[in-house]
Amino acid sequence: MTGTVASVKPTVLLFDIDGTLVTTCGAGRRAVERAFEQRHGTKEVLSFSFGGMTDKAIVRNGLLGLQRPFAGETELQEEIEATLGSYFGVLAEEVARTRIRIHEGMERAMDMAEAREDVALGLGTGNMRKGAEIKLGAVGIYHRFTFGGFGDDSIDRPTLLMIGARRGAGALGVPIEDCRVVVIGDTPKDVAAAKVIGADSIAVATGTHDLAELRGCEPTAAFATLADQGAETALFGG
Ligand SMILES: [Mg+2]
Repeated sequence: MTGTVASVKPTVLLFDIDGTLVTTCGAGRRAVERAFEQRHGTKEVLSFSFGGMTDKAIVRNGLLGLQRPFAGETELQEEIEATLGSYFGVLAEEVARTRIRIHEGMERAMDMAEAREDVALGLGTGNMRKGAEIKLGAVGIYHRFTFGGFGDDSIDRPTLLMIGARRGAGALGVPIEDCRVVVIGDTPKDVAAAKVIGADSIAVATGTHDLAELRGCEPTAAFATLADQGAETALFGG
């Protein structure tokens, strides 16, 4: 016997960031708002919930709310990129002055995943890769995720999750068809996106949605936190 533990099937884990791995105590929202104020002189167009949205979708939504005419999709895309460019600098400032918290059960889940040879530990997040690095780097866990699907990959959550899943299968050296993919997230959008790509989903009520609401979305499993009994089986199969 070696020290490693076998899972039921090669498993790709895709962790959401905000509300799931960590809470940024509003630093993410404040950074988007400040970037908008810098470039567009207002943050009023951002009065919607960012939960489960990709960074690009948030910025796009905000820009369209300005009711400023864009010459076309190309100009809109350029402004999305420019606004995100401002956002990274402001995010680093906001994160530096905020105490980012890692949610209960997450470090243990990462430890367990790393102890299993047939598990790939990745991110499935609407954050741009650079934003993910700023948020998770602040609590010293960014380096633990060797791959992921990010906001850079697509504005669309199912698409970026699928890209992340393929990268995870590549890291395990097995075809994606042979893998169990598990999306861990805190919003109905995470659960819905997992279903679109045929992945299992674990919902955690550590964000703004409570357990009853998340259960109503019929994820594969739902927990108050990932420290709850049953989470290990949900993650790695039984
Ligand atoms: Mg989230």
